[in-house]
Amino acid sequence: MGIRHHPTAQLISDYVTANISPGVALAVAMHLESCTICALAASTASRPAGPERVGRADPPSESALSTVAMGPWIGLRKGVLGAVTSAVSGLGEAVYLLKAEPGADIGTASVRHAFLILVLKGRVKVDGRTVSAGDLLELATPPEVLLADAPGASLLVVAEDLPLRLRRREG
Ligand SMILES: [Zn+2]
Repeated sequence: MGIRHHPTAQLISDYVTANISPGVALAVAMHLESCTICALAASTASRPAGPERVGRADPPSESALSTVAMGPWIGLRKGVLGAVTSAVSGLGEAVYLLKAEPGADIGTASVRHAFLILVLKGRVKVDGRTVSAGDLLELATPPEVLLADAPGASLLVVAEDLPLRLRRREG
């Protein structure tokens, strides 16, 4: 199954010109790693004029993400774990990872302030749309229904602040 949800041309342009927040840049970079269409678009997008053409030769990858400092995995609700990526969180945004078992109701509370979701593995259903690995979804409004599909899912979520209820443990 191919990637169906891509960053907008504007977002790619903002990424190339480093005009976006670290969390969003991380999500876009990870999408570009798995999407040749957007990688090509990024490589041909205009960069700032002048000799200082700073490239992004080493975008973070999923393996790079595993080395990003994270808080502990916390049970948010049945079948759903969350962890904050402390290295890129802050400055008014929160970047966190969710792992959900097949069929788990991720719940809108977990993504209440989310404005961007990148699916790392598996599939989720977002308001009836199937979103699979590599897909980057910009959200105009928070989703009302977010379910993990088989075989479960891992997500990178960029949110406006820190919506995880970090004190809550359900196993
Ligand atoms: Zn793409």
